[in-house]
Amino acid sequence: MKKRVVVIGAGLCGSVLSTLLRNDFQVTVLEQGKKKKPLFDDVDCDTGELNTSINRAEGLGGTTNYWHNALIELDDKDLGKAGIAPAGFASYYQKAWEFFLSKGELADCNRARDANAASLEGGAATIAHMVLPQTRHNVWNLANDRHPGDKIEVVYGQAQRIVDGGVEVKGSGGSQRLAADYVVACAGGLGTPVVLARSLGQEDGFVPGYHDHPMAYVAKVKLRPGSRLKKVSSTATLSADVRAGLVYDTDDLKTVVYLRPAVDMRLGSIMGPARYILSDLRNDPFSPKKIMMLLGNLEAVREAILFKTRLGFRGDYYSVLILGEQTPLESRGLKMARGKRPSLNWHVTPEELRSYEASVDKFYAEFADEIVERKVVPTASWEFRNAAHHSGTATSFVPAPGDTSKEFFGVTGLPSTYVCDGSLLRAAGIANSGLTLVALTYRLAELMRANA
Ligand SMILES: Cc1cc2nc3c(=O)[nH]c(=O)nc-3n(C[C@H](O)[C@H](O)[C@H](O)COP(=O)(O)OP(=O)(O)OC[C@H]3O[C@@H](n4cnc5c(N)ncnc54)[C@H](O)[C@@H]3O)c2cc1C
Repeated sequence: MKKRVVVIGAGLCGSVLSTLLRNDFQVTVLEQGKKKKPLFDDVDCDTGELNTSINRAEGLGGTTNYWHNALIELDDKDLGKAGIAPAGFASYYQKAWEFFLSKGELADCNRARDANAASLEGGAATIAHMVLPQTRHNVWNLANDRHPGDKIEVVYGQAQRIVDGGVEVKGSGGSQRLAADYVVACAGGLGTPVVLARSLGQEDGFVPGYHDHPMAYVAKVKLRPGSRLKKVSSTATLSADVRAGLVYDTDDLKTVVYLRPAVDMRLGSIMGPARYILSDLRNDPFSPKKIMMLLGNLEAVREAILFKTRLGFRGDYYSVLILGEQTPLESRGLKMARGKRPSLNWHVTPEELRSYEASVDKFYAEFADEIVERKVVPTASWEFRNAAHHSGTATSFVPAPGDTSKEFFGVTGLPSTYVCDGSLLRAAGIANSGLTLVALTYRLAELMRANA
């Protein structure tokens, strides 16, 4: 008889994991949302538009119902910071790339990456190689296409706590207990710490270690006509858009600079609540408030169209968008409160801000010959938004073995319980973390199947 696994959460990691385990275990996925829906009220947080823009979601596929599926690897330094030995991890990255792209599609993207690297070689920046497959995948559907097999039971309800022998669940029909030989918490960077803290009797505790990639528009620039920055900022392959971000390191924190097409040098389109309006509306098309905002910032609309159609990459005007690295701090995290919503104190520290500012200056200096005009948003007015890569909040519950052995995923004090989602990441540099999370999921599935 197969052993029973309960996977908590059907988001990015829960979807991939449950489909990878389906033939070797009896798999039950526990998902709190019956329908696809953004989550705005599971945690309190008054910074970073965490509760006013779509930032996490429930339903089969979890947050991937709304994501852009931009894929980037962590570099070796960041993998080291995350406690993942780079050499041993390369084959899992390969599996993760092939989860999203065919071998031919991947080869096209790698050619574009190599051309970008050659064109920027010898400069101060390193390159963030970002691939955006043209199809935005709900990962529950994609994982079931990629890994078909035995039935996965889906139970709708919210995991309350992991107990010896299973999971306590609250659902529309009341409470129940799901029996399990193994439990894997895949409830996301804001869901998993809550379940783990409750399970370990820390309902009033503080869970440290939260980090994300604060993002902000910081300037507009005019490039000289032949600037290589235009080409590296967007290369279309048949199946994907390949973008090179320029990465600068200051005081051991990275900042990545991306260029987005602009209509002119006016700053109105990159300041204020409408600055991400088209992206926000795509996810939430019937919001009257957002439609009004859209009508109030037609410049932002024109620029978003230039970006989406790629037409703008032939022009001379660009907005400068940065994403900054955050490291886990003992003081940044989720404050739990029994019977109430937890609150997140997400913020950008003065040290982080200084590092991002110095890195942006390095970008201006490196490309001084290509930037013919620059209009900056003063640093004090940079409007940081949370980039929805909720990370680090399970790291106080798991040991740090220094490699991805089973201990890497195992929860201290909860036997036969693992974590596999954003909360496990001790570092993510400036990379969108999805590709790394899929790679980690392949690794955990391999370890679990070896014991099945
Ligand atoms: C607009 C947007 C764009 C993004 N773009 C990108 C991108 O381009 N590239 C990238 O890499 N990342 C991107 N992200 C981030 C990416 O979607 C997340 O990092 C990723 O989905 C995290 O995966 P996860 O498995 O940790 O959690 P999630 O995908 O959030 O899944 C968690 C699941 O657990 C469920 N859950 C939570 N608590 C419980 C509970 N107690 N009981 C039962 N179920 C529970 C939730 O309902 C959810 O379905 C984007 C996010 C957003 C919002």
